[in-house]
Amino acid sequence: MLYDNIEIKNGRLYFAGADTVELAEKYGTPLYLMDENRIRERCREYKSALDSFALEGSCAIYASKACSFGGIYRIIAEEGLGADVVSAGEIFTAKSAGFPMEKAYFQGNNKTDADIRFALDCGVGYFVCDNFEELDALDRIAGERGAVQKILLRVTPGIDPHTYDEVATGKVDSKFGIAVETGQALEAVKSALSKKNLSLEGIHCHVGSMVFDSDVFIRAAAVMLGFAAEIKKVFGFDIKILDLGGGYGVKYYEGQGNIDIPANIKQVAEYVAEKSAELGIKTPSLRLEPGRSIVADAGVTLYTVGSVKKITGYKNYVSIDGGMTDNPRYALYESRYTVITANKADAEPRLTADLVGRCCESGDIIQPAVGFPVDIGRGDIVAVLTTGAYNYSMASNYNRIPRPPIVIVKDGESRVAVKRESLENLIENDVF
Ligand SMILES: *Cc1c(COP(=O)(O)O)cnc(C)c1O
Repeated sequence: MLYDNIEIKNGRLYFAGADTVELAEKYGTPLYLMDENRIRERCREYKSALDSFALEGSCAIYASKACSFGGIYRIIAEEGLGADVVSAGEIFTAKSAGFPMEKAYFQGNNKTDADIRFALDCGVGYFVCDNFEELDALDRIAGERGAVQKILLRVTPGIDPHTYDEVATGKVDSKFGIAVETGQALEAVKSALSKKNLSLEGIHCHVGSMVFDSDVFIRAAAVMLGFAAEIKKVFGFDIKILDLGGGYGVKYYEGQGNIDIPANIKQVAEYVAEKSAELGIKTPSLRLEPGRSIVADAGVTLYTVGSVKKITGYKNYVSIDGGMTDNPRYALYESRYTVITANKADAEPRLTADLVGRCCESGDIIQPAVGFPVDIGRGDIVAVLTTGAYNYSMASNYNRIPRPPIVIVKDGESRVAVKRESLENLIENDVF
């Protein structure tokens, strides 16, 4: 099986020790399942690798845009990770869940004055500043409160991570961050250091997502440490924190590449220590910002088949009761997934069909050319694997379809973590 929390027993798909067909009956479909133990294991892999190999104080920060709801911030806090937040909504969710906000890092390329005020009110630990206007605005607003705000400066190291264009964010021409290559990042450091109400703690980059090449973070670290050495030379200032962002890839289908994350963290941490010594700068403490690799394989989505359309001589469609509203990733990125018919998991996959959603869009495809049992039909349960990241958090109400619930599975037991949206929820803000 793709992951060790997936099993087939008596022709049925089990996830995190629970029978998925029973869960579909109990909670209805579409249904997001999340394996709590798996989330915790992934957190611990990062934590123990950073504790073992990087400078003391180094830590992993969960990029909560991958999957954001109250309970996940509690799990992350219990595992000792920080959290990346990118909006007032994520800040509010984290704070309401009791997340220790001094471990929150506020990201984003356009924080409004209202966002900045809200984040300061909530006690966000770090702002990851993206541009000159933000430095000015944050300094002004922090000053009005007599506060000094810790910041990291987001720069673009000019690294191509060899991933998809939509998720490559570290190139010089990115909308995120300030370019090192053009000298503008050094100007931004000058600006940050001149501000009374800002405390520059370090520098940040995020080169992209779905990274499998083991040298990507080393190449990013090389540019970033070179930049740190320049900062030291020009301003006599040592950065304390080097944040290399997120982006470790995960496996969505058999035969796809994989990366040993703890081994890569060891390599990166050792490189950072050696290179810092060589450059004559203090070794910075590390931050990594995994999103996908914390939650992706902790998630599975269940659907019920409604119709099977066989267009003789052309192609076949299996339609389900969800779609791009709960998983827009194929529509957005042509992302690949592994699909299993949960109640006929032993059957030979001899019928090839596109797995499609119920939205009024031809592009509403979950996955093309999937193998199904020949007798697949209305009422069968289909499972899409590895949906823990960027599914629930990207879900929409297009076609006024309510969002599915999230059910947490732990040691074979299940409980609702996020309720299914109701029809009443859909109209509660309609005041005209
Ligand atoms: C999206 C994002 C991450 C997480 O990326 P993953 O590929 O999910 O690990 C981390 N940091 C920043 C700044 C991001 O925008």
